[in-house]
Amino acid sequence: MSDSKTLFEKIISREVPADIVYEDDEIISFRDINPQAPFHILVCPKEPITMLSKSSPKLHHKVLGNLLIKSAEIAAKEGYKDKFRIVINNGAEAGQSVFHLHIHVIAGRRLDWPPG
Ligand code: AMP
Repeated sequence: MSDSKTLFEKIISREVPADIVYEDDEIISFRDINPQAPFHILVCPKEPITMLSKSSPKLHHKVLGNLLIKSAEIAAKEGYKDKFRIVINNGAEAGQSVFHLHIHVIAGRRLDWPPG
């Protein structure tokens, strides 16, 4: 059955190694393998929600709130309080490549807007 798992489910189950920076019962965070800045982590729910637009207000409002709060806490702990960007790529046309919801938290260099 593991073939139907996404890469991030395999990281959660420890089938694929990752540099994990935070974990609790509902969230895992690990360093992006191809960082776009000196600090680049991914923050994911353990529950395999495909993408933000597939989330349910009733089922997921708590975990979605916790993902945002925890993203800020981890950034602060790593020295980037008040100076990070978060990004969610929602769907293939928006650049999503792993279909397990994740927040990118990026910091440590100048971040221009709009992004390229
Ligand atoms: P997205 O394109 O928004 O779906 O983001 C997927 C992210 O996962 C990309 O930034 C990749 O660099 C990252 N990624 C892919 N494989 C791994 C891995 N094995 N460990 C950590 N990050 C990964």
